[in-house]
Amino acid sequence: MSSKSLPLVFDAPKRGMPPRHLADLSGEQRRAAVAELGEKPFRARQLAQHYFGRLTSDVESMSDVPAASRQRLGQELLPTLLTTVHNLDTDEGWTRKTLWRAHDGTTLESVLMRYPDRATVCVSSQAGCGMACPFCATGQGGLQRNLSTAEIVDQVRLSAAMMRDGDLPGGPGRLSNVVFMGMGEPLANYRRVMEAVHRICDPAPEGLGLAQRSVTVSTVGLAPAIRRMTEEGLQVTLAVSLHAPDDELRDTLVPVNNRWKVEEVLDAARGYAEHTGRRVSVEYALIREMNDHPWRADLLGKLLHRRLGKFAHVNVIPLNPTPGSKWDASPKPVEREFVRRVREAGVSCTVRDTRGQEIAAACGQLAAENG
Ligand code: SAH
Repeated sequence: MSSKSLPLVFDAPKRGMPPRHLADLSGEQRRAAVAELGEKPFRARQLAQHYFGRLTSDVESMSDVPAASRQRLGQELLPTLLTTVHNLDTDEGWTRKTLWRAHDGTTLESVLMRYPDRATVCVSSQAGCGMACPFCATGQGGLQRNLSTAEIVDQVRLSAAMMRDGDLPGGPGRLSNVVFMGMGEPLANYRRVMEAVHRICDPAPEGLGLAQRSVTVSTVGLAPAIRRMTEEGLQVTLAVSLHAPDDELRDTLVPVNNRWKVEEVLDAARGYAEHTGRRVSVEYALIREMNDHPWRADLLGKLLHRRLGKFAHVNVIPLNPTPGSKWDASPKPVEREFVRRVREAGVSCTVRDTRGQEIAAACGQLAAENG
């Protein structure tokens, strides 16, 4: 039986990691890869200049690469990783969610948010997520697979191109910030995420040249991975999704807490803060009558003051209800009182603005169900 006559289900590509891409490789690896293809090593630099500098992966536009080499180099080092399924715009166009399809049919999302003084893209590090936090849309579907380094970098590259091309209101601009707060647990895809940070931050033509301080890696609190990240010598911001100051409640809100308790997570975060001199962003999704009690605010303030001291910053995220869930945001007066009490303990605390709610692009709403 020829493959043509097989039912469609057998023709579906196997879910798996994408082919190798330039953005998976360090400068040295790129030169080796190009040499293996029988090309001059300096072609690696040319390709990188086009990809990271001009934000393009279209080999036919690379006029300094001989026409005869383009196709092969493109196939081997610049395969198409992400295609747009659709863009959804909201906040008068200042927020754009993009649903991407990967080579194997896997879908994933990223969200680009433009502000008067900056533009931030929220990227996915995995398709789906295995952490199973009950209030998060991504957590409900389980993990499909890790994203490759290049699949992560390509979300940033394509967002930077949208900004440069003026696809959002306000004219052409520059992508300034990256947050690993899309789908997935970045530290569960550790090596690829760290490589991606390098490609995002290393100066062109080695990378996209964003400032490390403008990149935030957000984690449920995989303590050993936080300790490992401390040794990387990076300056990126660490965000820890705490959501409860006490183990009893956190065991249910962030199931991985059953493995690494609040104190161990905060101690790992403190290690990172001391090593880098960077404040840690403590994420707290405020959920009505779940974790918004005045006594929990007091406990949170006390705990962070003791464990993180001046390095603590609390980011309160009003809960974004996900379809079919029993969870809801706290009323504004309860939120204000919560913030007041945390501050009273001497810990800085702000409320996250909530972009993208109408298009299910807000924190914890990315689910890619319509892939
Ligand atoms: N796995 C990483 C990144 C996930 S998303 C982490 O947990 O940190 C980034 C943030 O959005 C996390 O703090 C996450 O807990 C939060 N979040 C998830 N679902 C949410 C929801 N429904 N409303 C508000 N915040 C949510």
